[in-house]
Amino acid sequence: MSISRITTGLKNKSFSATEITRQALDFAGRENPKTNAWLLLAHESALASAARVDEQIAAGHDPGPLAGVTVAVKDVILTKGIRTTCGSKILGEFIPPYSATAIDRIEAAGGIILGKTNCDEFAMGSSNENSAFGPVRNPVALDRVPGGSSGGSAAAVAQNTAIVSLGSDTGGSVRQPASFCGVVGVTPTYGRVSRYGLVAYASSLDHIAPFARSVRDAATLLEVIAGRDPLDSTSAGAAVPNYAAHLDGNVRGLKLGVPVEYMKHATGETADLIHKAIRDLEDLGCEIREISLPATDYAVAAYYIIATAEASSNLARFDGARYGTRATESGTLGEMYRNTRGQGFGAEVKRRIMLGTYVLSHGYYDAYYVKAQKVRTLITRDFTRAFESVDAIVAPVSPFPAFKLGEKVNDPMEMYLSDIYTITGSLAGIPCMSVPCGNTSEGLPVGLQILCNHFQESKMFRLADAYEQR
Ligand code: GLN
Repeated sequence: MSISRITTGLKNKSFSATEITRQALDFAGRENPKTNAWLLLAHESALASAARVDEQIAAGHDPGPLAGVTVAVKDVILTKGIRTTCGSKILGEFIPPYSATAIDRIEAAGGIILGKTNCDEFAMGSSNENSAFGPVRNPVALDRVPGGSSGGSAAAVAQNTAIVSLGSDTGGSVRQPASFCGVVGVTPTYGRVSRYGLVAYASSLDHIAPFARSVRDAATLLEVIAGRDPLDSTSAGAAVPNYAAHLDGNVRGLKLGVPVEYMKHATGETADLIHKAIRDLEDLGCEIREISLPATDYAVAAYYIIATAEASSNLARFDGARYGTRATESGTLGEMYRNTRGQGFGAEVKRRIMLGTYVLSHGYYDAYYVKAQKVRTLITRDFTRAFESVDAIVAPVSPFPAFKLGEKVNDPMEMYLSDIYTITGSLAGIPCMSVPCGNTSEGLPVGLQILCNHFQESKMFRLADAYEQR
C-alpha cells in the first residue's frame, strides 16, 4: 500500500492502525528468514504507537501525514528503549536513552516504527556482508547482495515488510541498495535532515535518508523528517517545501546533464538501461546535454581518506567504558580498551580505523588528508559549474547490478570501486536519488541516479516522479 492509501483507509475506517501494525509485524516475522533484513521487530512499542493513532482518530484529531505507516529503521539510528547495534558486536545489547530527531518526527506524524534493520557494521560497506549479524539477501534474487550499507532497510521495503524505511548515506549507502533492490532511495542535501541520533561514521558526509516504493512516498517521508533541529548545529534552517504538492509531472524544458566521466565506463545492460532512461526523459520534453565533471576520477580516493579519517576519530568513543560491551579479563585500562575493540569491531571497521589514523598522523596529514580535502573542493566546484547550465544531472547509480553474495568480499578495492558514481554527490553535499529504471535480462533491478543543486529536492522529486509515471 502507498502512504495515501493507508491514511485514507484509516480516515474511512476501512481498517485501524492497530490492525495493520499487527499484520505487518506478523508478515515481517514470517518473511524475515528469507532475507535477514530485520534485526529486531519492536512489537510492543509499535502496537503502542498504533494505539495512539487509533485514539487520535477516535477523538476526531488529525493523526498526521504518516498515520499508520510502518517504518523500518536502519540500526545506526537511535530509537529510545529499542536496542541499537550498528550491526556491531561492540554495542551488544545497547539500549539508547533517547531517539534521533528523525524518529521523534516520524512518531509525531503518526508513523509506526516497526523495528530495526540489518546493515554493514557502522555503515561501512557496499554489500551488507560486513554485519556482525550475518548478511542480508536481496529479496529480488536471494543469492545476491541487497547492496550496502543500508541493505536491510532497502530489502524491507522491496520485500513489502515495511511501507517506507530510513537508511543512512555517507558515500552511497541508500542510493546503491535502492538501485540493487528496485526501490526509490533519496539522499537529501547535507544538513537537510538532522543527524542528531544518527551514530556517526563520517560526520561531514553522513545523512539520514529515506527509502520508499514510490517517489511520492519518499517525498512525503522526507518532508516529515527535514528541517532545522537545534540539537544538530549542521542542520539547515532553509524552509521545507511541501515536496509532494510539487509533483505535477511538468518537466518540459528541463535541461539535464549527462556526465561523460560516468558514462565512459558504463557497459553492458546497466549502460543500456541508463541510455534508455535518458531517451525516455527526452520524450518527456527534457533537453539532454553532455557535461564534464573532470575531478570524478579522484573521488573514490578522496572519499576513502576523508571518511576513514573522520571514522577513526568518531569510533574512538567505543572503548568499553561508555557504551555496550566490555571485554572482561583485562588487567590495565589500556588492555581493556584493546581487548574490547579487538573483540568488538569487525575486520572492515578495524581496517578503516587504521587507515584513518594513518592519514591523520603527523607527517602524512598534509600528503593525504589535506590533499583529499582539496579534491573535495574541486569536486564541489565541478557540480557548481555544471548547475550553471543544467537543472539536473542524470547518471548510473552503480556500474553493475546486485552481485552474488561472497563475490567481492575478499577484495576491498573492488568493493570500494562500486561506489564510484555515488561518492561524488556525497562529497559535494548535494541532493541525489536513485529511481528504478528497469531490470536486466536476469531480472536484476537497475537505478537511475538524479542529482540536483543544494536544496533543490523539489525539482529532483518532480523529475523522478514524472519519469516514474511515464
Ligand atoms: N560503501 C561506502 C562505504 O563503505 C558508503 C557507505 C555509506 O554510505 N555509509 O563507506
